[in-house]
Parts: sequence; structure tokens; C-alpha cells
Amino acid sequence: ERAPAKVRARAEIDLAALRANVRALREHAPGAAFMAVVKADAYGHGMIPCARAAREAGATWIGTATPEEALAVRAAGIGGRVMCWLWTPGGPWREAIEADLDMSVSGMWALDEVTAAAREAGRPARIQLKADTGLGRNGCLPADWPELVAAAVAAEREGLVTVTGLWSHFACADEPGHPSIAAQLTCFREMVSFAEEHGVRPEVRHIANSPGTLTLPETHFDLVRPGIAMYGISPSPEIGTPEDFGLRPVMRLSASLALVKHAPGGLGVSYGHHYVTPGATTLGLVPLGYADGIPRHASGTGPVLIGGKRRTVAGRVAMDQFVVDLGGDEPVAGDEAVLFGPGDRGEPTAEDWAQAAGTIAYEIVTRIGARVPRVYV
Ligand code: PLP
Repeated sequence: ERAPAKVRARAEIDLAALRANVRALREHAPGAAFMAVVKADAYGHGMIPCARAAREAGATWIGTATPEEALAVRAAGIGGRVMCWLWTPGGPWREAIEADLDMSVSGMWALDEVTAAAREAGRPARIQLKADTGLGRNGCLPADWPELVAAAVAAEREGLVTVTGLWSHFACADEPGHPSIAAQLTCFREMVSFAEEHGVRPEVRHIANSPGTLTLPETHFDLVRPGIAMYGISPSPEIGTPEDFGLRPVMRLSASLALVKHAPGGLGVSYGHHYVTPGATTLGLVPLGYADGIPRHASGTGPVLIGGKRRTVAGRVAMDQFVVDLGGDEPVAGDEAVLFGPGDRGEPTAEDWAQAAGTIAYEIVTRIGARVPRVYV
């Protein structure tokens, strides 16, 4: 029998770490239900395996952005509550009703479409009214709230919807002490009170994302909705490190060196020759590029662990590959290059790559492309 072919690169996903992170987060919010946010392919970690693992660790709710994602969760046979929030006109309301999803409604057009679909389906839709309490993105602004609440209550009386939740989302919860946090909370309480005084009986009220869950107990209400922290990544360096909160990074990205070669001094490396070898050296070729989600902005800065030593991307990250100056060391083709992982074996973290690329760790893990196989360990 032949040994299985080695893959070019892999993103190992530690589902035991994910389960432990869910448990740790639940301890931070002991009175609240838990919604595992698995949108965007679980921030690049793989939506279905992560949703299942989160369920095993006590997530009674699953959250996605698009209805297509939520329907895919159902199609994989995952039961329980599943909510989605990013609707566009003409969306799959009827399918969502039949799949028992909870659907966010941010305005009148969405309420009109969901009630029409409920009439056709012959059963009520579970909807959650989203308040824009100060994010200035999706959600209903306070001025438009009375109309939306009145229409939702009327639709509930007609048997077309059940309003299961009132909810909102923070703008700056990852900036400790930012004045918008208190302002959004006050606004949320007022909008919830208004809706309840006008006949809404929500099962859940919720606003807390990862930073809210980890650092702001007054934001927990009936349910918390963390994403990034579940994957073992801190929402921002200002909030703290993953270890501060008992979290462990779930993804480890590595590749097999495709080539190691001796190079003379003065050799221009990769497109644009932004790196020139300072003297005779060895170069290693890492077979991952911006098509795999490696940020081109990390050209010349991205960190990699090879043979126990930290190296840096030499020159530009190309579509499928980048070069590392090994400084005379001589690993061989096939040796492992670790781009990021938990960080406890000398490897960089996704946060390190975010810093190197001038972005946030959310973007680093989420953009790891479909060409990189996820290996569940
Ligand atoms: N809730 C909503 C509506 C979101 O869009 C997101 C992600 O941005 C989250 C919760 C989870 O946020 P975080 O990953 O910061 O915990």
C-alpha cells in the first residue's frame, strides 16, 4: 500500500479546543443562552464541523449571516435553534420558515416579505426584530422602531409571525471604556422596553458579541453571541490575550516547503525584487499565496516558523507562493513551515499575522481559502 500523499498545505482545526472555548465562554456568561456564530464558514474554520462541536459544548443557538448559510446548517441535519440576519429582498423566506429558522427583521420591506411567505407556507415565521442602537449598519433606527414594532405585533396577532427576539449589535465593544458602549446599552434598553410595552413578548434579548461576552457582564441579557473568541482569538489586543480568558486558538496553518535552494548574494527575490539577498544564503519556498488568503500586505513582514526558527516573508507574497530567507540553514523540501497556530510551540499566531499585515485577526483566519484543506484533529 502506498502512503497517503502529503498535502501542500493544511489548516488543522482543533475541535477539542473549540469545545473548550465554548465552555470557557459559557462560564463568562453563566446566566445566558449561547449562540455560536458560524458565519463565513465559521470564520474560515469550517461551518458544519464547528457548528456540531459548538452544539456538543452547549451552544443551544447557531448564528449565521446569510439565510443560505443557515439553510446549509439545517441541510447538514443540525437541529435546535438557528438564526440568520443578513437578508436581501427576494430572499428564501419560505424555505427559512419551513426550515424553522429564526429570521432577523430590520425594516418594513423585510416584514412585508416574511409575512407574505408565512401566508403561503400556512405557518408563522419566527422573527427577531433588530434595533440599530448605534452601530449605524443593519437594524431599525429608534425613529422607525414604533412603526416596525406595531406592524410586527399586528402580524403576530394575525398568526403570521412569532416575535422570538429583540436584538442589536455593538460598534466599539472591543475598545474598553468607549462611550458608545453605554450609549448603545441605554438605547437598547429603551427600544426593548418600548417593544415590550407595545405587546412584544421576546424569548431572547441579546446584544453581546465576543468582547461583550468576555468583558461586559451587563450586556449579556438572555443570550450571548460570540464569534471570534470561540475560535480562540481575542477580539482585540486592548481586550487581552486569548490566555487571559482561558481561550486557545483553534486553527493551525502550515505548509510543506516546496523547494530549498542555495542562492548567491544580490539575488532579487519575488515580484518587484523588493528583497535582495544580502549575501550567500538559502531560500525556502512556501506554497501558499494570496489566493489562499495570505495577505499580500504581509510582504516583507509575515512571520513563519521553520526548523524551530522564526523567519520572515522575503519580498512579495505572490498568488500561490512566497519565499523565506533561511539565512544559511538547510531544511529540506517537504519540511514544515508553520504560519500560525496557538503560539505555544514557538509558532506565530493569527494576531501576529494581523499585525504584520495591518489588519485584524478576524480577517486572517476568515480569508484562508478553499484550496487549503481543513483537517479536523
Ligand atoms: N453578532 C453579529 C450580528 C455579528 O455580525 C457578529 C460578527 O461580526 C457577531 C455577533 C460575533 O462577533 P465577534 O466575532 O466579534 O464575537
